[in-house]
Amino acid sequence: MQTDPTVTPEEDRAIEAAFRDVLNGYLASNHRKKVEIIERAYKFAQEAHAGVRRRSGEPYILHPIAVAKIAQQEIGLGSTSICAALLHDVVEDTDYTVEDIERNFGPKIAQLVEGLTKISGGIFGDKASAQAENFRKLLLTMSEDIRVVLIKMADRLHNMRTLGSMAPNKQYKIAGETLYIYAPLAHRLGLFAIKTELEDLSFKYEHPRAWADIKEKIKETEAKRQAVYTDFSAPIRAKLDTMGLHYESKARLKSCYSIWRKMEAKHIPFEEVYDLYAVRIVFDCDDPAREKQICWNIYAAITDLYRLHPERTRDWISVPKANGYQALHLTVMGPDGNWIEVQIRSRRMDEIAEKGFAAHWKYKIGEGEEESELNVWLRTIKDILENPEPSAIDFLDTLKLNLFASEIVVFTPRGELITLPAESTVLDMAFTLHTELGLHCIAGKVNHKLVPLNQQLRSGDQVEVLTSNTQKPQAEWMDFLKTAKAKSRLRAALRRERQPVIARGQELIAQYLKKNRLPASSTTNQRLLERTGMGSYEDLRYAVGAGTVTLDDDWAETIRMGVIPGEKSILRSILRNTIKVATLGMAGKNTENEASAEKKAEDADGDEASRERPKVNTKEVYTLKYEDGHPNFKIADCCCPIPGDEVLGFVDDNNEVVVHAMACPRALVLKAGYGPRIVQTRWAVSAGKFLAHVRVEGLDRHGILQEIIAVVSTQMDIDLRRLDIEATGEVFHSDMWVRVEDVAIVNDLCSKLLTVDGVERAARIQ
Ligand code: MN
Repeated sequence: MQTDPTVTPEEDRAIEAAFRDVLNGYLASNHRKKVEIIERAYKFAQEAHAGVRRRSGEPYILHPIAVAKIAQQEIGLGSTSICAALLHDVVEDTDYTVEDIERNFGPKIAQLVEGLTKISGGIFGDKASAQAENFRKLLLTMSEDIRVVLIKMADRLHNMRTLGSMAPNKQYKIAGETLYIYAPLAHRLGLFAIKTELEDLSFKYEHPRAWADIKEKIKETEAKRQAVYTDFSAPIRAKLDTMGLHYESKARLKSCYSIWRKMEAKHIPFEEVYDLYAVRIVFDCDDPAREKQICWNIYAAITDLYRLHPERTRDWISVPKANGYQALHLTVMGPDGNWIEVQIRSRRMDEIAEKGFAAHWKYKIGEGEEESELNVWLRTIKDILENPEPSAIDFLDTLKLNLFASEIVVFTPRGELITLPAESTVLDMAFTLHTELGLHCIAGKVNHKLVPLNQQLRSGDQVEVLTSNTQKPQAEWMDFLKTAKAKSRLRAALRRERQPVIARGQELIAQYLKKNRLPASSTTNQRLLERTGMGSYEDLRYAVGAGTVTLDDDWAETIRMGVIPGEKSILRSILRNTIKVATLGMAGKNTENEASAEKKAEDADGDEASRERPKVNTKEVYTLKYEDGHPNFKIADCCCPIPGDEVLGFVDDNNEVVVHAMACPRALVLKAGYGPRIVQTRWAVSAGKFLAHVRVEGLDRHGILQEIIAVVSTQMDIDLRRLDIEATGEVFHSDMWVRVEDVAIVNDLCSKLLTVDGVERAARIQ
């Protein structure tokens, strides 16, 4: 029965044969015999990839089958991995989802397929190589299950074996990536044969000419090499036979890649690479305890026959290589006068060396903790794979490779990798990319699904940040942010957001006090706090400014008199309830209307300015004055000059004159960079009222604030727009913003303030 009508009967037979090969290999292994699910996975993949062919022209399904075969026969994995390998490209390349896989094959296989899809998606974008180090980390991080990495290795090996049918520009890139990432990882995982093959295939595509040259020279020298080998090995064989050993002896040629590496490293031509091949002797031995002795017996037999190179004996048995490799190596002088390396191994040692999962996963000290943690896991996995008991396989499922549990790695839509602390959210990601993205983030898309801001991310997630100009930073975000950077940026933004509201609250409080003829004193403040139940004066100003607390004129009397202690709590609870239902009082409403009216006027003014304002003549002296009730200038908010200050005008893009203090650092920059747009100015006799910032400092005492305000409001009749005050111990600092006509009035105010008992300093701040 043919699943895919687009394949020829011959192809169909080839596909079936390839799959049977996988199945037979599996049945011959020690694994449980879960044939049914493997057959279903095969049918599912076949149906999903139906009608699709690889670039080479062969039906696509042959690729997953080949990957499954590598996973099973060259890595030694079981049914779960075989199924995942068969299905590994289904989610990425077809309409099926991970959920479909889960429904049909259960959560474990679905997880593996999801992991494999994540490694593929986004990673092989243009930035993959540049981020290779990250990628290597990602592979390890995201692989909650090491099998994801192992199957990926099989996938890559098959892609490398069939790389010839890819476009040349892709060949080069994939080859580089393989050499840089996959081969070292294979080495680390103990997949020695796969590592060597990956290296050689990469070399072939990265340096095709060097590869072809070496290949050619190997061929040319083969007959001679064979003759030398026969000459060399005959006496050894004779001797080993008399020792009664069961063994195999063969000449093992170095890989093209390692020959090339040697040529490059030593700057020598092919002809001078004397150790082109090694002679390998593999003996059978049932008793591991005797292996070492036999190795040394063979060593003795060979050194009886040939001259030993004194410095080239390597005992990897007593001290195995870091990656678990065991063997006894020696180098002797061959019959043609060249040095020949001989490798002596037991069958067990040979299998470990060739097939991977070497016995000893002890890495060099100093390679870092990641390595040693990885080793612990790999040792466990190796044990399980060597002795696949059903219970042990289940155990593998429950093992999670949480090597970098404290970190996750996610992608941007463009495939860039971002490392975040574990449990980071969409909002953390937004702040990591850019503070503005964070502050305006409204939601995210994780793997193309819309999710809320507080969605936690997992390694391998592709994350898109959605923003809106109307979004504002929220205090509640603090609860789910994970990264320190995001938290500090949010904190700063919230403070900035609160500032105007606090100022407005301050103003409303001042108006309230004035209206009800209450003294502006710390006692009043304390009573206001008691009345409103607010925790701090800043909170009170914020609440009043935001309109969540409205000051009631009816409270004035009790605030003036203070509250009898016994009544406090009752009164406060009554007041709190009042506040809850309170609507905006008259003061609040008026201010709001005023504010919006001001805003409208501003907007209208702006439009007018850009359309109708006559061009400023920078050659003349410009008079700063009111025309039709509007100023013909703008006050720069960096230095806030007022009449009496030495100023200059800067003609902005809207042809408006922006007035800066002569000493303003910004004005200096403008003068240097925009000379022709600077206009000389003079203040008209009455140019209006301007905001000036006055700082008053001194020693705190009861009633001092009231006296200061009395100076400003009563004595000088100056409009106080904003007042901030802070007392630290005995000292207070106060910042006030007053509306004044010119510098002379501010100076007058300051000198009067200095007469208030306790005021040490009163000066305008620019
Ligand atoms: Mn694939």
